[in-house]
Amino acid sequence: MIATKKIWRPNNVKEAWQIQQTLQPNEYCYVSGGTWLRTQWEAGLKKMPSNLISLELIQEMNEVRERLSYGKREISIGSQVTLANCIRHSLITKHLSPLVEACRQIAAPSIRNVATIGGNIYTTAGDTIPVFLVHNAKLRWFNGEEIETQLLEEWLIKLQANGFQRDQRILVDIVIEIEEPFNEQFTFFQKVGRRETFTASLITVAGRGRMNHQGEVQDVFLAASGGPIPLRLSNTEMELQNKVCSMQLFQEAFSLITNEYETASDPFASEGYKKTMVANLIVSELFEQWEGNKEGGGTNVVRS
Ligand SMILES: Cc1cc2nc3c(=O)[nH]c(=O)nc-3n(C[C@H](O)[C@H](O)[C@H](O)COP(=O)(O)OP(=O)(O)OC[C@H]3O[C@@H](n4cnc5c(N)ncnc54)[C@H](O)[C@@H]3O)c2cc1C
Repeated sequence: MIATKKIWRPNNVKEAWQIQQTLQPNEYCYVSGGTWLRTQWEAGLKKMPSNLISLELIQEMNEVRERLSYGKREISIGSQVTLANCIRHSLITKHLSPLVEACRQIAAPSIRNVATIGGNIYTTAGDTIPVFLVHNAKLRWFNGEEIETQLLEEWLIKLQANGFQRDQRILVDIVIEIEEPFNEQFTFFQKVGRRETFTASLITVAGRGRMNHQGEVQDVFLAASGGPIPLRLSNTEMELQNKVCSMQLFQEAFSLITNEYETASDPFASEGYKKTMVANLIVSELFEQWEGNKEGGGTNVVRS
């Protein structure tokens, strides 16, 4: 017997909330691009609920905008913005090139045309998350009454602590402060996938910071996925602050990262392999930046 499904298409976030309020938690789910949900339903990992609340028509969640908040310039990326649009949008290509790189490496173009940035983050497994973490991204949620703001990092940590129990809030947009590019700045994104094309990554790493011509590292932000949740490597960041690059510093950074990065073995890679891979990727990015600086280089983004 084919079970009847009801598909709701609210025009605004309040309407989406009201629909959800009339249903039990197991009777509905929000759908953005539906690409992740489909894999879960098809693999039998999740049951398709009887009500699907599509968020695709909510205009305010489909836009990339620049805005001012307390005198600071920010980019707001609506949760319904597709990965394909992130790759094309001029504000993102100008200020967030590692995000462009991360999106470009997700799945095939046909998936990227419908998969959204909000869905990518909400799964907690999305490849874009480390990029947002190193930019201290804030998530803005509609809670039924108002928009509330939460740091992405805080949301991930709380979610893990409560056993990944979600609430009903709707992710409206993701906000990042704009930093004007300058010479000593560096950014990077790297992804290591499995052998098959278009499968989920094993690990992704992202970083940004500054390195002057003497090789002194400042304001470095590092993050990696591949563990239970993607996380910042705050201790490593702190230990690198104001240190001058040398082969010894890179060796120390390697140990710091392998100690701090939390992961676990899975059917495709052991814990030790993933730790070594994350440390290697980050240290080689710092090394390349150091080498580039000696030759008078600047901002770079390296592909995997
Ligand atoms: C062949 C294939 C390859 C893939 N490869 C990759 C890859 O390499 N890297 C990668 O990161 N991902 C990959 N994915 C997974 C997926 O396509 C992406 O993560 C995508 O960005 C998810 O977005 P979506 O809009 O399709 O999310 P959906 O499937 O619509 O939703 C995902 C989850 O988020 C919830 N949700 C969505 N929007 C909101 C919102 N605004 N508020 C609250 N909850 C919300 C949904 O209820 C659901 O639980 C792949 C998928 C496929 C099918």
